[in-house]
Amino acid sequence: MNFVISPAPIPVVPVAGASDGFPVRRIYCVGRNYAAHAREMGSDPDRDPPFFFCKPADAVVPVAPGVTGAVPYPPQTANYHHEVELVVAIGKRGSNITAARANDHVWGYAVGFDMTRRDLQFALRDKGRPWELGKAFDHSAPIAPIVPADHCGHPVRGRVWLEVNGALKQEGDLGDLIWSVPETIAHLSTYFELFPGDLIFTGTPEGVGPVVKGDLVSGGVDGVGELSIRIA
Ligand code: MN
Repeated sequence: MNFVISPAPIPVVPVAGASDGFPVRRIYCVGRNYAAHAREMGSDPDRDPPFFFCKPADAVVPVAPGVTGAVPYPPQTANYHHEVELVVAIGKRGSNITAARANDHVWGYAVGFDMTRRDLQFALRDKGRPWELGKAFDHSAPIAPIVPADHCGHPVRGRVWLEVNGALKQEGDLGDLIWSVPETIAHLSTYFELFPGDLIFTGTPEGVGPVVKGDLVSGGVDGVGELSIRIA
């Protein structure tokens, strides 16, 4: 069958240390997965469990190693925030995956930024409306190359950090995740069948805040990698 319009290109994230690419199918994100960040967002981490939202696959902005990516300041916001996160890349299909088997479904890991139009997110949240305008906009998922789990293992501890113009803004540790990566995969896979190509942004530690045009935003997860972008 001929297409009546040109099909959109498949979003691809490079694989670290190789010329290969990881084709992105879906982007799932965990909200409130570090207790201190849940508190700074005005919720009670003991009472409110983490939850999930999505971004479109073509929200990824792949950034090559050693390169500062360019990410445009988005429209319709006056409070554009950084969130640094460990990203899980799924390599094996499954639903109702047990936490004990979850790592078998992980192809690799990356550092990503869940960029957020915080003013829109909060306005939508307060009205009980969907979050897409605040979270699922164009260029909202800058991401570093994906490191195969064969190389980095399955990290359970490691510093998660982010700097704006060299000043430390966010700092946490994977060991402080409310839901570990295997638990996150287990829960998410009860709602959605996961497929190779799915990415899971696992949540951000405390210290989120605004960025403006010209800012240099750098972050990383120890043992996984680093990511730098300039707000253009
Ligand atoms: Mn986030």
